[in-house]
Amino acid sequence: MEEPPAMRHGAKMDHPATRAEALARLEAFLPRAGRLYAANRNFDEGPGRRTHVSGLSPAIRRRLLCEEEVARAALNAHGFAAAEKFLLEVCWRSYWRGWLEARPLAWQRYCADVARLNEELARAPSLGAAYSAAISGQTGIDCFDFWARELAETGYLHNHARMSFASIWIFTLKLPWQLGADFFYRHLLDACPASNTLGWRWVAGLQTAGKTYLASADTIRRTSCGRFRVDAPLAREAPPLPPEAPIHPAGLPALPEADPDAPSGLFLHTEDLSAETMVFPAPVRAIAGPDRIDGDPADLKRAYANASLDDGIVRAATHFAAEASRLPVDTLPEAVTQWAARHGFRQVLTPCAPVGPVADRLALMGVALARAGIRLVPVRRAWDSAAWPHATRGFFQFKGRIPALLAGGGAG
Ligand SMILES: Cc1cc2nc3c(=O)[nH]c(=O)nc-3n(C[C@H](O)[C@H](O)[C@H](O)COP(=O)(O)OP(=O)(O)OC[C@H]3O[C@@H](n4cnc5c(N)ncnc54)[C@H](O)[C@@H]3O)c2cc1C
Repeated sequence: MEEPPAMRHGAKMDHPATRAEALARLEAFLPRAGRLYAANRNFDEGPGRRTHVSGLSPAIRRRLLCEEEVARAALNAHGFAAAEKFLLEVCWRSYWRGWLEARPLAWQRYCADVARLNEELARAPSLGAAYSAAISGQTGIDCFDFWARELAETGYLHNHARMSFASIWIFTLKLPWQLGADFFYRHLLDACPASNTLGWRWVAGLQTAGKTYLASADTIRRTSCGRFRVDAPLAREAPPLPPEAPIHPAGLPALPEADPDAPSGLFLHTEDLSAETMVFPAPVRAIAGPDRIDGDPADLKRAYANASLDDGIVRAATHFAAEASRLPVDTLPEAVTQWAARHGFRQVLTPCAPVGPVADRLALMGVALARAGIRLVPVRRAWDSAAWPHATRGFFQFKGRIPALLAGGGAG
């Protein structure tokens, strides 16, 4: 299946890949995070011209910036009433993450579906051809084709483009939503198991049972500031996909208690790269992280993740005045175990990784460490501990908790 090569036409990374750059972007965006954001956020002026949205999602995704500090900055700049819309959007992310954390089955089911559908693509020529046309931007639907290329070339799409793209994928092209979510996941610099999977499920009508999102040509013309004609016919209705077997909340996983006196190392990963804004339960003596990311992302996403990982590890080493080691990603469980044993650590602290591939790798690392008598102790940020237990029902219920969340303690 041929995808448009990323970085053709000199496309460049337009999103902050270091904390310093992300803080500068936040600072520059803050004046527009109040009523201007509420009025204009749905309008997408196109790549290189966007002023109505922050473009911070890749940085927030890897926690070069945490949701809490972004929300507090907007609150301080505008007050709750004027900043409410921006605060709600930032908190959607916390909500999705909390929802998925208590329901890992939604992610596991999605991953199994993607594996099955990828095999099906090779066996079913008509599905394969329709899928190829969609991901290479050759469907004849002008906005959709533009977005497919924009995604591959920049690793980013505006929220409205994501909603319309997903809707056209599912209801006009009648392709399986899981393959669309996988296409997004491989390319988006902010690709997040929670926001992406649940965003697609929401459009498909699986997340809010029976409620789908139908893209309309008029809305696309308006929100794209007239950039697209949308002459090709789009689906006129969006019937919900057949209901799936229910996903019951399994509760948030309990975390092991740290020993505050045990000599400890800190293992960093791409789920949280601002260790200096966290509170760790024991003194950090040395730091380790993978030498690079693994998996099969698009080149631009890989480059972004590696750059942010480098930045996060260098900052942590400076902050804790500790030696930082980069360990081979292919043999991480063994390499971390040897590193911890060499330093005489009885526990390795690590920022909590929510449901997703990093959490799966940490689980394997925990097993290898345990064999050597060393504990892996994930540490959850205070923001996540406060927010996630409330992501039990819909966002409407969660929303009511946001003022209390913001009134709560400091970062960490
Ligand atoms: C099908 C689909 C897939 C998506 N996949 C992802 C994904 O993988 N990763 C991701 O971070 N977001 C995802 N989103 C949400 C949203 O589109 C992006 O967060 C947003 O477009 C990022 O641009 P921005 O930083 O300029 O946002 P801004 O409008 O400036 O918003 C500020 C921040 O709030 C958060 N945010 C805003 N809108 C949402 C939302 N609807 N859901 C969750 N968080 C939000 C982001 O962290 C964002 O950086 C998806 C939405 C849809 C409909």
